[in-house]
Amino acid sequence: MSIRWKVIIPYVLLTFVVAVIGLYVITHLVAVRQEERLRNQLLEAGRIFSTQFTLQERRQLQTARLIAYTVGVADALQAGDRASLEKLIRPQVATHKLKQVFLIDLQGQEQLHLFQKDKDTLELMGDVGMGKSQWLSSLLITNSELARRVLAINPQDNKYYLYSALTVMLNQNVVGVVVVGTPLDSLLQSLKMVSLADVVFYDTQGRVILSTLQPESEIEGAEAKNYASLQSAFGLDQIALNEILQSPELVLGENVFIDGRGYSIARGVLQIGREPIGVFGVILPLDFVTAFAAESRNFYSWIFILIVAGVFLVGYFVSRPMIVSLQKLLTVSQAVAAGDLSHRAHLRTNDEFGVLAQTFDEMLSNLQTRNAELQKAHKILEQMDRAKATFIEVAAHELRTPLTLVKGYTQMLALKFKDEPETVALTQGILEGAERMQEIVSSMLDVSRIDSNILKIVPEEVNLGVVIGRACKTFQDALKERNLTLTIQGVDGLPLIQADPDQLYKVFYHLLMNAIKYTPDGGRITIHGHLVEGEGGRGQVEIIVSDTGIGIDPEHHQLIFEKFYQTGEVYMHSSGKTKFKGGGPGLGLAIARGIIQAHAGHIWVESPGHDETRCPGSQFFVRLPLRAEFHECDTISAP
Ligand code: ADP
Repeated sequence: MSIRWKVIIPYVLLTFVVAVIGLYVITHLVAVRQEERLRNQLLEAGRIFSTQFTLQERRQLQTARLIAYTVGVADALQAGDRASLEKLIRPQVATHKLKQVFLIDLQGQEQLHLFQKDKDTLELMGDVGMGKSQWLSSLLITNSELARRVLAINPQDNKYYLYSALTVMLNQNVVGVVVVGTPLDSLLQSLKMVSLADVVFYDTQGRVILSTLQPESEIEGAEAKNYASLQSAFGLDQIALNEILQSPELVLGENVFIDGRGYSIARGVLQIGREPIGVFGVILPLDFVTAFAAESRNFYSWIFILIVAGVFLVGYFVSRPMIVSLQKLLTVSQAVAAGDLSHRAHLRTNDEFGVLAQTFDEMLSNLQTRNAELQKAHKILEQMDRAKATFIEVAAHELRTPLTLVKGYTQMLALKFKDEPETVALTQGILEGAERMQEIVSSMLDVSRIDSNILKIVPEEVNLGVVIGRACKTFQDALKERNLTLTIQGVDGLPLIQADPDQLYKVFYHLLMNAIKYTPDGGRITIHGHLVEGEGGRGQVEIIVSDTGIGIDPEHHQLIFEKFYQTGEVYMHSSGKTKFKGGGPGLGLAIARGIIQAHAGHIWVESPGHDETRCPGSQFFVRLPLRAEFHECDTISAP
């Protein structure tokens, strides 16, 4: 995943999660606040209702009192003078817009019943039996000024009224009762208007008697309203009723649903003076809470969408320069890794990226200069190496002919003076030296062929046991002379391989010669061969030449395969090719590696380190494929 996505994805996810949590918390808080507001509004509506109702009643009672104290009313009532009563009261009823007014004598007879039919018509009604109402009887039998209020049905129109009744006194005696009534439905409408809530009236048994709330199911039979669904939704059982009656405050009810619409209600006692005349309820629809919650959710959703977009854009514009800088640096470093030092980041920003890029560019310029210097030095070294190789080749060629002459003439001398032991010994010495020199010259020629890639490989089926046996035989005398034990294991059982036997002979010749040279007298040399699985599961033979010699430090393990490389001080070496620490030109391992590589094989050394007293020994590994593919150049003959 690129750095761009590593930065953007967690950033976007985090912003989104924070936005969702924020949205949830805020809408939740808003909803809670809305519910609280609704509750407060309900309580407020209830308080207004209660105050207005009391005021209304007080006004009504005040009017009743005015009527009762109108001069002549008490006398006319006592005398049963209906005409005078009507004359006295009619103007008052009209002035105060009273709906129903009764004047009842002590026998419960309606001496006057005025009913305001509409705005302009004030009808004189016949006896509707109001005087026989039970609630009035207590007033008719008393002998003092007393008032009562009730919610009762008017027998004339069968509607609920709020009645205020007051005894009419004459000379300290009760002569009758004046009753003023206001229809509850009109009262309800005005209370609804001031309290800004639907209202409901209950009788003292907790039954719904009137409400401004009209469920759809009950609009049909408007005449015969019985508020069945309101009763089932808002009706009160005895426990709830008692709770309301005993509470001085408004009591909040449960949320209810009628015709799929939610409502909340608060109830209180309708109480004037000491006696409760019923219970009222104020109702508010939950709609505006849910609507407001949905509205606020939408509102906040939009705000959060805008915030998320804003945060995302800010994040994008903040991270973009960094990502672009990083990508520039990445492109340059990739180009450098691919070997192109000419690229530059060219980033000129006033931040750490700018400093990094500038340092990087400077580093590249330095590297480029160093690289050019190195390339120049390398070229010179290559030229020198070529000159050295040419010198080796020329020297080897030039030395070969005089050496052959020296050997030939020495052999002739040995033959001529074969009876003179002293001369024979001298000629033998010259011959041995010449042979050693020939060997070195031959090694020099091998190395120059390997260097020029013209080593001749003539492949055939080779039995490695035979090749190794040949090499061992060469050193039979030396092994005996140095008291070294040579053990050969597993090489005879190896399968035939495709290789050049003469070249392989040289490899084991040099490895064995080194093992002899670097192992103190009395040591052990082991040659072990076995089959191994190489790359791609192809079979390979592995030959390990181990000794109990002085060992090689790890830092030399690769370098000893370079031509002329020798560890330790060269002048410390003793002379003689098989003597302990005998000298050599430092070409053996270079030749061995060249030949093994020409056979598509590998050669390497393993040794714990160099120690001439403890002699940790060395192990030279040679791996050769059973069937190698030889390259063209490997089979070109030396000129
Ligand atoms: P040389 O003619 O010096 O033997 P080689 O190329 O054969 O040249 O070996 C290079 C160097 O590797 C030697 O000078 C010697 O220091 C080290 N070396 C090679 N074989 C062994 C061995 N079996 N034990 C310890 N050192 C070895």
